[in-house]
Amino acid sequence: LMQLFMPLNFLGFAYREIKQGLVDMERMFDLIDTPPEVRDAAQAVPLQVTDGAVAFRDVDFAYDPRRPVLCGVSFEVPAGRKMAIVGPSGAGKSTITRLLYRFYDIGSGRVEIDGQDIATVTQDSLRRAIGIVPQDTVLFNDSIGYNIRYGRPEASDAEVEAAARAAQIHDFVAGLPDGYDTLVGERGLKLSGGEKQRVAIARALLKDPPVMVFDEATSALDSETEKQIQSSLDRVAARRTTLVIAHRLSTVVDADEILVLIDGRIAERGRHADLLSQGGAYAALWARQQRDPAAEETAAPGQEAS
Ligand code: ADP
Ligand code: MG
Repeated sequence: LMQLFMPLNFLGFAYREIKQGLVDMERMFDLIDTPPEVRDAAQAVPLQVTDGAVAFRDVDFAYDPRRPVLCGVSFEVPAGRKMAIVGPSGAGKSTITRLLYRFYDIGSGRVEIDGQDIATVTQDSLRRAIGIVPQDTVLFNDSIGYNIRYGRPEASDAEVEAAARAAQIHDFVAGLPDGYDTLVGERGLKLSGGEKQRVAIARALLKDPPVMVFDEATSALDSETEKQIQSSLDRVAARRTTLVIAHRLSTVVDADEILVLIDGRIAERGRHADLLSQGGAYAALWARQQRDPAAEETAAPGQEAS
């Protein structure tokens, strides 16, 4: 009887694992709205990450062919450097992060990691190389621990906790009756925007990828928590290629290059001091945020509240 029982039990286990994986993938696809046409090329090979350098070369993109969203976007982020993108809402900043993750294929141009066209590598290997803290974090309807560990499923409890501490969410989780086993979502705990964002940051820190993308990653946090997390994010960014979509300009001052994106085109580029002395859109934006620190949106110059 044991001989019969063991394999069945094992199969049940394997089935649950696989099913859970599929459910998560389905949910992921729902959430990120991945269009079905993004597929691995027939000859797709795994991405070979050497340094984690990122490049966009003359990239055009449109969700709807009748309405271009990005036009001729070119930039390079050398390995280990930090690039920031600022610009008004709707300029195409988040779209750039989605293209790097290859949620969509581009109209023309090339997106490269370490010189390899991302359209020619397996999506799995590409996504393992990139950690994203998105603008709006959507969590799986599972435990907090599961949601953090999703960044690296084989991580130990201690590693999960260390990531949670760095993301300033550990104390909150530890204070819950069920701790890391607390369910989030429909049947469990409702997390605030800031708490979800910190879970996403913990997940990305745990994943520890060569390329990190923060899309207004601290926008839902109060400024005290943001300050505390910022130092963790800075530590992480210091060792790897980082793309930051900036919410508050104070977080881009130290970037190696800042792109000012307006209507899908790079309007200005350079370091903070260079852009200030140019006296253009960036300088206007900076002046506005200095005058009114509460004006946190990197809104279009000239769109000041009257
Ligand atoms: P940003 O992050 O700079 O605010 P986005 O990259 O999110 O801007 O959006 C750029 C433009 O693309 C906007 O006009 C937006 O409405 C449009 N857009 C974004 N996502 C989609 C989508 N899934 N389908 C169609 N249009 C989209
Ligand atoms: Mg955005």
